[in-house]
Amino acid sequence: MMKLEAWNPLFKPNEDSLMVPIWIVIPELPWHFYFMEILTPLLSHVGKTLFLDLASFQKTRRSVVKVKMQINLTKDRPHHVWLGYDENYDENGDGQWIEIQYESIPDYCSYCRLLGHNTHACSEKAKHEDMQKRKEGARTNEQIMQQEKTTTEAQQAHQLPKQQNQDTQQNQTPQHQ
Ligand SMILES: [Zn+2]
Repeated sequence: MMKLEAWNPLFKPNEDSLMVPIWIVIPELPWHFYFMEILTPLLSHVGKTLFLDLASFQKTRRSVVKVKMQINLTKDRPHHVWLGYDENYDENGDGQWIEIQYESIPDYCSYCRLLGHNTHACSEKAKHEDMQKRKEGARTNEQIMQQEKTTTEAQQAHQLPKQQNQDTQQNQTPQHQ
């Protein structure tokens, strides 16, 4: 399958491309906005608009618009876009925030920078975190051992009576009824 892709200066051949084409759905956009000339600036913060789906293009489905877009998976995906003039100059109150949805976004791992699994399911990340924990654990154990050593030495220095042992012996004495 041919992959459509805009040139990206950050592209590294050993990492999966982070620019992917996906469908964007806008559930409540009136059909007279279903033009690339309107949708391209509207969705400029989301990514690069590629084309409309057939129903949107032919205006046969008049409540939902679907646009194929190329997005960068590493970037935040806005869930609302501003329809109208600049938000700060919306004196007439014509503008509004409209919801946008993303269809089947591919899994992407920000740890490996690879497609195919998401960061939560990353075995490499889990391995690394486990190693990190072990390192920290080893450090903590060392500290505890050091503390215990110091305590024992202090106890020996003061020659504390072994009260506990006597209690144990009493408890072990058989009781006849
Ligand atoms: Zn990963």
